[in-house]
Amino acid sequence: MHDHIKKISLGTPLIILVGCIMLAGCAGTNSLNRGPAANSALSLCQGIKVSNAPPHDQNKKIKNFHPLQSIRSNIILTLPTQGCLSSAYGPRNQQTGNKTIRFHKGIDIFTKTPRPVVAASDGRIAFIGRKSGYGKVIYINHSNGVSTRYAHLSAFNKTLKKGDKIKQNAPIGLTGKTGNASAIHLHFEILHKDQHINPLRFTS
Ligand SMILES: [Zn+2]
Repeated sequence: MHDHIKKISLGTPLIILVGCIMLAGCAGTNSLNRGPAANSALSLCQGIKVSNAPPHDQNKKIKNFHPLQSIRSNIILTLPTQGCLSSAYGPRNQQTGNKTIRFHKGIDIFTKTPRPVVAASDGRIAFIGRKSGYGKVIYINHSNGVSTRYAHLSAFNKTLKKGDKIKQNAPIGLTGKTGNASAIHLHFEILHKDQHINPLRFTS
């Protein structure tokens, strides 16, 4: 019992520190104006037909992108991993196996190789495991009925379990293609009271 507690109390600061290095500094992530520098811009993936592509310039950079957003008092990272946008939120027709997905409930961030995924905001792990379609997936509950989901992961942060408290920017796993996925990417969802929200709704 004591060993278990010790492991968590020693391990947690280390993990948060690694997360800060990866995202070029944790300072200021609780402010809407100073997000992690590495994720301050988002582009459409080159050479991939992006469904529901939001407005972008000739270099495929998304216009009016906001790296942080406030939802019901939660400050949420719009991109919990580093990569390009391979699919946006909304209606689309995509054939995966025998199933046609008609509404994409999140955004897809293509990462080519497995990359760290971090918690988008402070919260508590509500689910960590496998679900059909999602593959290896983590659900995090935040305040005031807001939650986030991170799907198709190739690996989980082994120190995490259901019920654990988690801080924004803490590493939770690696991108992958488990479940219904044909390339390594993060499928990221934001929900309020089980209703999906467009993570890029502030872009225009
Ligand atoms: Zn997706």
